[in-house]
Amino acid sequence: MRPFPLLSTSLLAVAAALTLSGGAPAAAQPAARAPAAPQVPSQLPRGVRPLHYWIAATPDAANLRFTGRVEIDIEVLQATDTITLNAVDMTFSRVTLDGGTQGRAAMNEEAQTATLRFPLTIRPGRHRLAIDYAGKIYTQAAGLFALDYAGAGGQKRALFTQFEAPDARRFFPGWDEPNFRTPYDLSVTIPAGQQAIGNMPEARRTRNPDGTVTVTFRTTPAMSSYLLFLAVGELDRITTRAAGVEIGVVTRRGAGEQGRWALQSSARIVPWYNQYFGTPYPLPKLDNVAGPGTSQFFGAMENWGAIFSFENILLVDPAITTEARRQSIFKVAAHEIAHQWFGDLVTMAWWDDLWLNEGFASWMATKATAALHPEWEPLLDRIDGREQAIQLDSLRTTHPVVQRLTTVEQISQAFDAITYRKGEAVITMLEDYVGETAWRDGVRAYIRRHRLGNTVTDDLWREIERAAGRPVTAIAHDFTLRPGVPLIRVTGARCVGGRTQVSLAQGQFSRDNPDTPGRWRVPVIASTGAAPARALVENGAATSNVPGCGTLVVNYGQTGYYRTLYAPPLLAAITRNYARLRPLDQIGLLADNWSLGLAGYQDADLALNLARAAPANANSRLLVRMANILGQISDMYAEDPAHRAMLARFAFARLEPAMRRLSWSARAGEPANDAVLRNELIETLGVLGHPATLAEANRRFAANDPSVTAGPLRSTILAIVAFNADEATWERLRRMARDERSPVVRVQLYQLLGAVKDERLARRALELALTDEVGATNSSQIVSAVAAGHPDLAFDFALRNRQRVEAFVDASSRSRFFAQLAGGSADPAMIDKLNDYATRYMTAQSRGAVDRSIASIRDRIRVRRDRLPQISRWLEAWRS
Ligand SMILES: [Zn+2]
Repeated sequence: MRPFPLLSTSLLAVAAALTLSGGAPAAAQPAARAPAAPQVPSQLPRGVRPLHYWIAATPDAANLRFTGRVEIDIEVLQATDTITLNAVDMTFSRVTLDGGTQGRAAMNEEAQTATLRFPLTIRPGRHRLAIDYAGKIYTQAAGLFALDYAGAGGQKRALFTQFEAPDARRFFPGWDEPNFRTPYDLSVTIPAGQQAIGNMPEARRTRNPDGTVTVTFRTTPAMSSYLLFLAVGELDRITTRAAGVEIGVVTRRGAGEQGRWALQSSARIVPWYNQYFGTPYPLPKLDNVAGPGTSQFFGAMENWGAIFSFENILLVDPAITTEARRQSIFKVAAHEIAHQWFGDLVTMAWWDDLWLNEGFASWMATKATAALHPEWEPLLDRIDGREQAIQLDSLRTTHPVVQRLTTVEQISQAFDAITYRKGEAVITMLEDYVGETAWRDGVRAYIRRHRLGNTVTDDLWREIERAAGRPVTAIAHDFTLRPGVPLIRVTGARCVGGRTQVSLAQGQFSRDNPDTPGRWRVPVIASTGAAPARALVENGAATSNVPGCGTLVVNYGQTGYYRTLYAPPLLAAITRNYARLRPLDQIGLLADNWSLGLAGYQDADLALNLARAAPANANSRLLVRMANILGQISDMYAEDPAHRAMLARFAFARLEPAMRRLSWSARAGEPANDAVLRNELIETLGVLGHPATLAEANRRFAANDPSVTAGPLRSTILAIVAFNADEATWERLRRMARDERSPVVRVQLYQLLGAVKDERLARRALELALTDEVGATNSSQIVSAVAAGHPDLAFDFALRNRQRVEAFVDASSRSRFFAQLAGGSADPAMIDKLNDYATRYMTAQSRGAVDRSIASIRDRIRVRRDRLPQISRWLEAWRS
């Protein structure tokens, strides 16, 4: 899956909410794999395993329910009179074995299972189990769910499925664990005039006497339950062909052309992956299906042959889609398509190794984007991912990349920045360590050996090591089996005979436990501007002999997952020569030094010296990172308007030159990233209260300028206006939201109503979230938008209305939702409130999200108390 894409590019978005995604069948029907290896934890007994499913569903969309029949070929391994499988929220009307013997079902809601009891002993061997049942259609994205939208001729309802992580059990009774791979035959009965999309192409359709149509899809290859997919509705489908595969984009009727960019992008990505993986895409077709709505926790899902994406990250409406969004549509498609191999063709045996799916797909998406769209400079964005990961990984509440997961809540919480972003960072580092070609050869061998099978992480290391011809597993284990962030101290550098002798010492970077003595084997690259030198820091120390005597940069190229702390004279040299370093290193150095200063490893103001030293024509990603840091400082001054004003003066001085160069209008033929930067700068300046920017945004909004309703600046202008809104403006935005027909714009406008600075209006937005006006999937977005600026307000409100709020959050994500609302608080009282919430509503195994929010609140309080004064003194002394 792909995390939920943030509404705003910079300051308005505080909490990075993350979510899940999923695969395609092969031409030949492979035999089902042997049952899981014994070390795979499981919630189901291992005495019976499924071999093949035939599922027939008849949705009753109007009444949000469906009836189904599933027939399952099973293999009984030990004689038994009971069979336990997964099932949630369903009733069984008839259970039969081998076409005759009737069984009784006992549901266990807590364990999400059904136990079928038969009046005889089932002998080992093959049997056929059949269950007639009825289930629910949800209004949040879990199981079979409905999305309502305004279509031609009135309100429409389309149905989709979302099964990762453990929600296939809401659609059919079965063995809902990734290691049970089987073929699936799916059919669905739908009203005439509607279409259905599954993982595989349609095999046949039959017209029923009542006018309905039954669509049957071709048999899938053996795959995991979480990758099964179904969509039903009034749909358009546009197609093309690439590398012998039919590529499609599926939308609500009338929106098909908006899928053209995603279609063209997918048609370039599939052949590139065929080449990289060395195994061709294995299904006859690949669709990407657009859902008109949102989820709090995910943006897209890699169902095999039928990717699902919410419209805002799949469709391009030329009137409203920004350049940044166009780029992210490509990157999300690249992520989900990478999963078609890494995740779908080869699947982790259990959720403990989820990172193998998500870290790899994230890394691969960046790699494919760098190859196909180098002008977007996607490698510079890897530092954002590294920073998100370190943010979580530098607190005690972190977890290893590979972790032990047993409960549904734990699995849901595992879709976080450690799994995605640290996973990507570790792969980036290891690829760099073994070399691009050896890494690719190892990946090819891994895919070849394990296709249509399930793996654990060490299966990958084994192939990489073999391809590289050198040990890599020990380093990989250090970074995946133990939590935390290494710190590399550059303790000294001496120029001797035209080379620099560098002394390195290794510790641990931690924001709340600085004395932890973690040990890693860390591959380090250093350069003085001449050829880079490599060293492996083992047992806590190393020396490196680096060619040249220029400005020393450690973690040169920023591929390492660690923080670098320079001795003061070395950082002073970097600061002097900062403007001449490569953008990648400028961005990485700024991020490192900002974070080291806040954590207390060095003075907090040293990063501001770097920000001051950045060149006037700085790379756009450096300006964005700088804007992000300045925005964080501004937030810290919530109670200190005098210093906030000083900060704003410094920020304006650093950002205005770029803004003058870019202006409010695109130049013909300008680089794509200029368009991205323009929006980000305008929004940052607008949120920081830059008078000219605010005035221009407000003028355009008041005059109903065309740029407010269409064009590249639309969402940026609206974000500034909404953030600074008074009551009349807020009401006008609300009317715009209510009257809006595009599902994408509608949810944006409702989010903006929550992203308002004025606390009284933020309260009104919360009340609005509970009404029918906003639509079932938009409510949680409003509450989260309020939480970004007013975490305490949003959490208190959600708790007061707990049951109503839970109703609009995906069932498996509720334990995260409440905790994340409060995560941006700086109020010590919130710690007790969160503890109290966890005691009341969470089990000991599922309170991880609450503990992480508490840790970041404590850290925020510490930073404001201990680190901010230094920044204040720096700002008092700064003169432009
Ligand atoms: Zn994913």
